[in-house]
Amino acid sequence: MIDSHLHLDDPAIADDTERIVRECAEQGIELLINTSCDYASMLQGVRLADAYPAVYATVGMHPHDSKDFDATFIAEMTALAAHPKVVAVGEIGLDYHYDLSDRATQRDVFAAQLEYADRFGLPVTLHVRDAYGDARDILRAQRRFLRHGVLWHCYSGSPEFARQAAKEGHYFSFGGAITFRNAHKEQVLAEIPIERVLSETDSPYMSPEPYRGKPNTPLRIPIIVAKLAEIYGVAPTDMEAAIRANTLRFFPKIHL
Ligand SMILES: [Zn+2]
Repeated sequence: MIDSHLHLDDPAIADDTERIVRECAEQGIELLINTSCDYASMLQGVRLADAYPAVYATVGMHPHDSKDFDATFIAEMTALAAHPKVVAVGEIGLDYHYDLSDRATQRDVFAAQLEYADRFGLPVTLHVRDAYGDARDILRAQRRFLRHGVLWHCYSGSPEFARQAAKEGHYFSFGGAITFRNAHKEQVLAEIPIERVLSETDSPYMSPEPYRGKPNTPLRIPIIVAKLAEIYGVAPTDMEAAIRANTLRFFPKIHL
């Protein structure tokens, strides 16, 4: 099984990395993609990828931290993008829910990072919250930079938006939120072909039911795969195989 988006470096679980990675291996969780948010997490993600065979990393600046997107960050991101285990630029995008960086800065930094991803030859992992209209406009304007793939992490948009994005070849990853009672993710997943779905935990965030509100770990990925299998009406092992094939297709630098 695969956790395509998590934050092992987050203080809530960072001290447990050794144990988490070992238990994942014991339970057949073969791939963990540590996702960058800021300068420190970008460096730590690559360190973890160097230390553990199952861990891969991304580079990039979360919309929350857009205000810190400076020359130092860009130089480091550019250098690390060539690392054999750096597989995407992310998580990048727009977050108008928390507004931790001003919106104009978020838009500029999102657009810029799409260009960098193209220059690096890497796909992008998107974080978009309460900003789907602006995200669509930026993706349209930057269309020529999207040749290496677009993945919507923890997709929370409408079924109509998902239908359009799926038509454009985008991928979607789902985590704990699909297990919440009010999730209504069936309508969204009805618009997404099974060939475009990935699994994630976003640890330490977004714990699935019945762990909602507690720190999350990638050991809960089987709960996500089981829920996706239920929604798609396939056997969990078939869901797992589809997710594995989708993940390897979307992230060409990953070799398992
Ligand atoms: Zn995340």
